[in-house]
Amino acid sequence: MRGLMLRSLLVVALALSLLISGGLSYNDIPDRDPRSLKASQLFDMIPAGKRGSCANRPVDNTLQDAAQIADKGLSVLEQLVHDAMTNNKNNQGVRWANMGYTMFGGKYKLENIPGDKKRRKKVRVTDGYSRVTKAMYNFQAVQFKLKNDRVQGKLMCGDEDLKLVHKLGDLGLEPKDKLISVAKKDPSNIKGYFLSRYWSPKDSKGAYILDKAFLVYIEDDQYEKWKYGYCHRGRAVMNRPSNLMVLCDRVWRSPTLRDTIRSQSSLIGKPIKDDDGKYLLDQQQTAGLDMLHETFHWISWDITDIKTSRGTAYGFSRCFQLAKEDLQQENPCDLDQSLRNADSHTLFGNGVTLNEVDWYPDGPKEQG
Ligand SMILES: [Zn+2]
Repeated sequence: MRGLMLRSLLVVALALSLLISGGLSYNDIPDRDPRSLKASQLFDMIPAGKRGSCANRPVDNTLQDAAQIADKGLSVLEQLVHDAMTNNKNNQGVRWANMGYTMFGGKYKLENIPGDKKRRKKVRVTDGYSRVTKAMYNFQAVQFKLKNDRVQGKLMCGDEDLKLVHKLGDLGLEPKDKLISVAKKDPSNIKGYFLSRYWSPKDSKGAYILDKAFLVYIEDDQYEKWKYGYCHRGRAVMNRPSNLMVLCDRVWRSPTLRDTIRSQSSLIGKPIKDDDGKYLLDQQQTAGLDMLHETFHWISWDITDIKTSRGTAYGFSRCFQLAKEDLQQENPCDLDQSLRNADSHTLFGNGVTLNEVDWYPDGPKEQG
């Protein structure tokens, strides 16, 4: 009786602790069809007609494309982690394995499965298993973000020049004190502007303002980099402290994933570079891919754009180089550069989503 009571107490305690520790975990990734996603469920956006508005941009489709690429990337990584058997008939599994281990610094061997009448082969991982597993967790975190139906960030579209302000006078506000000191005293003094909860104005050189929508804190060491505006340098950016994603005009000139897949000719057996020396895989750029790249930055401070001796690790060549270096590192502190690089994940997701991508040419595999 007592044992039973103890046991039932234990069950209750366990249930309670589950409830308390509960919250949301990545096991609770909303099982939503990517095509059902709406950008307004994830992002606050600037009203139509205002600068930086996304009103005339295909934001829903872009989010759906990003989620679709992430879905595919995650399912392939899950297959690799669970020792997926590859089907030699179409070699798709082998290509996936090669791509997964190529991008995240691992090696595998193909082995015959004894007695398998379909003559399938099994992928046996010889190195980098934990890195592929961690890549899978990163994809889960991205899924959790993209498929959530709670507004968690702000989205701004186009090359809007954000105005850098120093004084309240620059905003037409009285008194004309320095913005920083007023904001420090009482942020609510600046009515109508969004202030990030991470706002820490003591060292700030300035803040970007856009139609009273956002006030983005710029770190001292980031000031030079961003003083000409976010879109001066790149296609897109994630300002993580304020959860602001900016997708520049360059992004909106890219095709959709559907159009890319439709117009894509087979890349199998093609030289990995075109006549101009550009990597074919790097040219399959879509708006959804940009959103996915920025979402990898969004999920963790650790996921950045890694600097290498050859430049920032964007694109196939440098991501591949990072993965090769991961394989060669002996100092554990230097490991896992690929896992901290947004484009390594993004390229992998795109590669397994597009049709007929052949990742044999340079993969650091040990083919059996
Ligand atoms: Zn990046």
